[in-house]
Amino acid sequence: MSLKKFNIFIVLISLSIMSLLYIYIVQQLETSIDAQVKRSVRSTAVELRQQLLNDFNTLKMRFGHYEASSLEKLQKVASAIDTDTSNETLVELANMINVNVYDGHYEVYVINSDKVVSLSTSKGDIGLDFKAYPYFSKELDQLRSGGIEYKISAPTFDEYALDIAQYYLVSLDDRWVMIGFVLPFGEYVNYKVSELQETFHSLKELDLYLLTYDNIQHINSTPSSTKNLTRTMAQKDQYAQMIMDDLSLQKSQVSSVVEVIAGSFTQKNLEVIHSENAQTSVVYTLVESSFEETSDDFMLISKAVFDQRLYLADYAELKNLMYMFISFVYLFMLLGFWLMYKAIIQKISGIEKQMHHDEPIELEGFLFSEFDYFLKRYNNFLLRWKAEVNRLNEITLQDELTQCANRRYFNQKMKEQIDLHQRYEQEFSMIMFDIDDFKAINDAYGHTEGDHVLKNMSKDVQGQLRVSDVLCRIGGEEFAIILPETNRKSAVFVAEKIRKMVEEQSYIKNETVTISLGVESFNKGYDFNSFYRAVDTLLYKSKEGGKNCVNSSIQKSS
Ligand code: GH3
Ligand code: MG
Ligand code: MG
Repeated sequence: MSLKKFNIFIVLISLSIMSLLYIYIVQQLETSIDAQVKRSVRSTAVELRQQLLNDFNTLKMRFGHYEASSLEKLQKVASAIDTDTSNETLVELANMINVNVYDGHYEVYVINSDKVVSLSTSKGDIGLDFKAYPYFSKELDQLRSGGIEYKISAPTFDEYALDIAQYYLVSLDDRWVMIGFVLPFGEYVNYKVSELQETFHSLKELDLYLLTYDNIQHINSTPSSTKNLTRTMAQKDQYAQMIMDDLSLQKSQVSSVVEVIAGSFTQKNLEVIHSENAQTSVVYTLVESSFEETSDDFMLISKAVFDQRLYLADYAELKNLMYMFISFVYLFMLLGFWLMYKAIIQKISGIEKQMHHDEPIELEGFLFSEFDYFLKRYNNFLLRWKAEVNRLNEITLQDELTQCANRRYFNQKMKEQIDLHQRYEQEFSMIMFDIDDFKAINDAYGHTEGDHVLKNMSKDVQGQLRVSDVLCRIGGEEFAIILPETNRKSAVFVAEKIRKMVEEQSYIKNETVTISLGVESFNKGYDFNSFYRAVDTLLYKSKEGGKNCVNSSIQKSS
């Protein structure tokens, strides 16, 4: 595995691990914040319940304070009235016992048949249909049937008016008279609810529901106008259904709605429901219950809606900090990988790539000093090695006198060309030439002058050739020219050009030096030796034919 691939592998693995870690941390954070919010909602709900309980107890204590004197007053009134007592006198009696009553008041109802015909304090109640008041009608029925002469009730909830009340009920021949002490519970609680909402800002909504055996009332919406009984009776079912739905309660066949709700609340006094989208939490709290008792049974439940966003705001900053931290680590890691890639991996890969070309290595970027040292050493070594190779090439492949290629190089080049021909059918030709009567020149002018001729002539011949052509000294005064990608015709043309050029040069004063040439192009019928012999034969032919001429396999020229 290459370093590059390994690096990509490591980066991918690290990024995957980092991403998983990221998801895990975010999830953990969300979960813990969610749990924290729920805990906060719960503790606020518990606090709220305690508040409600305290307020309710205060209310009960206040009523308890009146209870004794109330009973005494009612009994006093009861002994003062008889069948002849006029309605006006009854009103006077009510006004009399109302003195020094601060939190509540006394009311006198004169009931004729089923209608209230006269009363002392609550004038709005004239014409009230008592049959629609199940609580009182039960008492009235008992009086009517003669079962009892009078009744003084225990303090209880008037479930329609939402008052706490204690009544004295007496039959006076054609009339019934009801005298009662009333503490306006609903109004008091409404006042308390708004106070609680001010204390607990997180409460979007706080509602109180009063359950009695056959009724569920929404206290907060019980001003005097709800004494429209038909509407109140219809609404109670709606409230019941709403609570049932919120708490996912199922109504059994035998139990009434009220019993189902009461049953669910006698088990636990706090029910917290967190909505799925985590925006709100609904908390039902049991404030007070006497549902286990036989008479005057009631249950007071509060419903509070908490806006979770108020709690979430506290965590927004923490969340942002966490995300920032994770993102920073993420970026830092990527930067680390980039640096590692740039400073090490890319460099090593670059070195590896460039080493194939045996050229000095040049790299950009932020290198470590170790790389600088390595490259300097490598480049030095390479340059020295190349110089050495060149020197050795010169020694082994170059002719010392003429500076052109030697016999060894000629053999090498010839084999190369034959290979190329056999593989790609690439044609090539060879010119072989020999200086005419060179022995005589040597003899006449001396060996040094002969060398001078060899040197200058090869230089001039080289000047007639293409860069790709190779001039080789293959013997004392014998030369060969390998002409790659050149056919015989072109080679003959080159040979003739050289022959003429040599003839025209004056290498020795007043002396004409000539050469004889043989030209042939390689074909399938040849191998190294036969080709060499063929060209040599053609050269020999030129010597025989009078020298200073070119011979190819096709033609002879002079
Ligand atoms: P021909 O036209 O038939 O080729 O006649 P020639 O005299 O050139 O024939 P031959 O091949 O017999 O002579 C070659 C001569 O070339 C012999 C030798 O003295 C001379 N010679 C060979 N190598 C060198 C060299 O390096 N320097 C000098 N100056 N002369 C050389
Ligand atoms: Mg010769
Ligand atoms: Mg010769």
